[in-house]
Amino acid sequence: MYEDLFRKALNIDDPWQLTNIDFNPDGKRIDLYLDFAHGCKFECPVCNKPGCSAYDTKERVWRHLNFFQYKAYLHCRVPRIECTECGIHRIEIPWARKRSGFTLLMDALIVTMSQCMTISDVAKQICEHDTRIWKVVDHYVKEARSREDYSDVTVIGIDETSCAKGHKYVTLEVDFDTSKVIHVCEGKDSNTVSIFKKDCKKHDGNPGNIHSICCDMSPAFISGIHAKFPNAAITFDKFHVMKIVNDGIDKVRREEVAKNQNLKKTRYIWLKNPDNLTEMQKEILGSLKDMNLRTVRAYNLKLSLQVFWSIEDRLLAEDYLKKWYFWATHSRIKPMIEVAKTIKAHWNGILNYFDSRINNGILEGTNSVIQLLKRSARGYRNVQNFITMIYLRLGQLNFQLPT
Ligand SMILES: [Zn+2]
Repeated sequence: MYEDLFRKALNIDDPWQLTNIDFNPDGKRIDLYLDFAHGCKFECPVCNKPGCSAYDTKERVWRHLNFFQYKAYLHCRVPRIECTECGIHRIEIPWARKRSGFTLLMDALIVTMSQCMTISDVAKQICEHDTRIWKVVDHYVKEARSREDYSDVTVIGIDETSCAKGHKYVTLEVDFDTSKVIHVCEGKDSNTVSIFKKDCKKHDGNPGNIHSICCDMSPAFISGIHAKFPNAAITFDKFHVMKIVNDGIDKVRREEVAKNQNLKKTRYIWLKNPDNLTEMQKEILGSLKDMNLRTVRAYNLKLSLQVFWSIEDRLLAEDYLKKWYFWATHSRIKPMIEVAKTIKAHWNGILNYFDSRINNGILEGTNSVIQLLKRSARGYRNVQNFITMIYLRLGQLNFQLPT
């Protein structure tokens, strides 16, 4: 009676039989013993020849879904069969993957939990070592990725992000149409672009179809894209452009603060978007604006460059940028002259924004998830796990989990 219930719950079929149930309430576990009938014949897992006899067996244990609050384990001796056609092989069992210590249903639970919890929390929750959890997640992420099709990908964003610990970086490629992370790899050099190209081809993508790429002004990405995606127009991410402007202002302020005490503790006032300032900050900014400060002049350069991005037409935008460039280069403020020169050196890629209209800020959702993942990164152990987690959360993968 019980046997029948468990058999159904475990979804086991001939030739497998449930031979014993060992319930140990004190040990908080239940052990279920499976076996096959003596003299039972198996199909060869390699050539499918039926009627092969068991050659020898190996005892295996799999963790299964909890039985209420009790940990459940399946035990079984798994035979190797002797095939007269092709030799001796271990047979595949229907309730678990090869070499896995979990049943398929346990796999499904682990992957489902991992989609919304950190791996260390999953590990704690089910009382297993996290390296075992990572193995399961990694397997399903790889399997789901192998089915991905990138033949429709035409516009992508490339961005780098640091892993929480150490100074290791990963580079991500995101498909702008679907906002899905289609590739992640370690590093931030030009080689990451060529690794992506190979992976793209593996997934039926055509690198020649990718006509637009958004990235920062890193020479590594630029040279990688020119070499591997010659058909793609580069659009420099406007947030990265504005960041170098902010860095310029910050330099100017730090130089000037020695001469003018009023600039002390005003760093964020100059860096923040004016709309995001508090009333107090607005007041301070108002009082500083009337003083003849280099920081204020640098700040005004930033405000006018912000207007640039809202221009509708590329030609008008270019006219505007030319004027801005003239103003900045004649400002006699060295950090801002340098910023202007950087902009000049990336002129077309900046103006390409007015054709492509892409910037990595569009991927805000992606960025915030990455930040979240980084904060919980203590449990990653290595870069590969971080990459797996990015795919799991942002790859929009279609997991074919056992049910
Ligand atoms: Zn065979």
